[in-house]
This record gives sequence, structure tokens and C-alpha cells, in this order.
Amino acid sequence: MGEGSWYDTDIDRVIVSEDQIRDKTAELAKQVAEDYRRVDGVLLVGVLKGAVMFMADFARAMGRHGRPVEMEFMAVSSYGQRATSSGIVRILKDLDRDIAGRHVIVVEDIVDSGLTLSWLLKYLSSRSAASVEVVALLRKPDAIKVNIPVKYVGFDIPNEFVVGYGLDFAERYRELPYVGVLKSSVYARA
Ligand code: 5GP
Ligand code: MG
Ligand code: MG
Repeated sequence: MGEGSWYDTDIDRVIVSEDQIRDKTAELAKQVAEDYRRVDGVLLVGVLKGAVMFMADFARAMGRHGRPVEMEFMAVSSYGQRATSSGIVRILKDLDRDIAGRHVIVVEDIVDSGLTLSWLLKYLSSRSAASVEVVALLRKPDAIKVNIPVKYVGFDIPNEFVVGYGLDFAERYRELPYVGVLKSSVYARA
């Protein structure tokens, strides 16, 4: 292997660089730490698998700001056409414990149609969380249209399919340290 990595050859262009992700994560954590300064034990709920990298980095950034967090994970799968209101969400992995009375922050990789998230927000409220907010690393234009209450957003990106930093194409590319667009030749291969 020479300079760069094997995956660089599959990526058409970088949308959000490793440095940008690091800086933005620190900035978001600072803001959240400030907003939750009166709250004991914020509960982060990471949405598997896409949010795994962001969850790990965001939690550590909160720690650096002196804010203890607890970590929970959920896995859901969305059915039905995207961008319709008939999205059905199935729980693949539920919370391991009661969140009643807890201040919950959902940690998401990306909000696109917002269907997954709006379902999740209802679900978490029905479990009697004291409060529920969302921190999402990425947001696409459709999400802004449907007006999903994402309080903390890292980057607004164009309406393109991206991979990296947790986001996959056919379960690959999650380990990329940045977020980028795949070359069309990769889709042709699949
Ligand atoms: P939504 O329900 O907001 O339409 O989509 C949520 C999920 O769709 C995200 O958590 C993510 O798993 C997937 N998704 C949406 N846009 C992209 C994208 O550009 N790339 C990848 N890899 N996944 C995406
Ligand atoms: Mg997600
Ligand atoms: Mg995926």
C-alpha cells in the first residue's frame, strides 16, 4: 500500500473531512455540555449501526467538557418507501433499561427523510423520558423540509448518498475516517 488507503480509490470526493468532523464534534459537545449544565447524567442513545463512530467521539468530547454521559444503543430498521409518511419502523435492538425521567439525547449519523427519527422521538417520549433532543452529524435537504426537531446538527450536506464515518454502502465503508461520495463505478460493481 502506498499513500492514502485502499478506500480512497472508491471515493469520488470528500464531503466532510476528518478534521472537520473532529472540530465540529468538539463544538457540538461544548454546546450540549453548556445547555445541559444543570442536568445530572445525560443519557446518550446511539442509533446503530450508522452512529457508532459519531457516538464514540461525541461521548468522549462530552467527557472532555466535564460532562458525564451514559450510553445506550438502539437498532431499528425502516420499511416502506422513503419520503412517504407510511414509514414502518421495526426495533431490532431495544434499550437495555428504563429511561423514565432521564434526559435523553439521540445520537444520529444522518437525517434524511426524518422518518426514522420522528418514529424514534415518539417512541422515547412514550417511554417517559424527561426530555428528548437530537444531535445528528449530518442532515440532508429533505429533513429541513419536513421540519424534524433536530436541535444539534453538524453539517448540512447535499442530497447525495454518502458513506464513511459509520455510514455504509452494503455494510462497507463504515471505517472511513471521513464522509464522502462513492464513485459510480462502485455501484455498477454491486
Ligand atoms: P431517514 O429515515 O431520515 O430517511 O433515514 C435514516 C437512515 O437512512 C440513516 O440513519 C441512514 O442509516 C440511512 N441513510 C440516509 N441517507 C444516507 C446516505 O446518504 N448514506 C448512507 N450510507 N445511509 C443513509
Ligand atoms: Mg442512523
Ligand atoms: Mg445503511
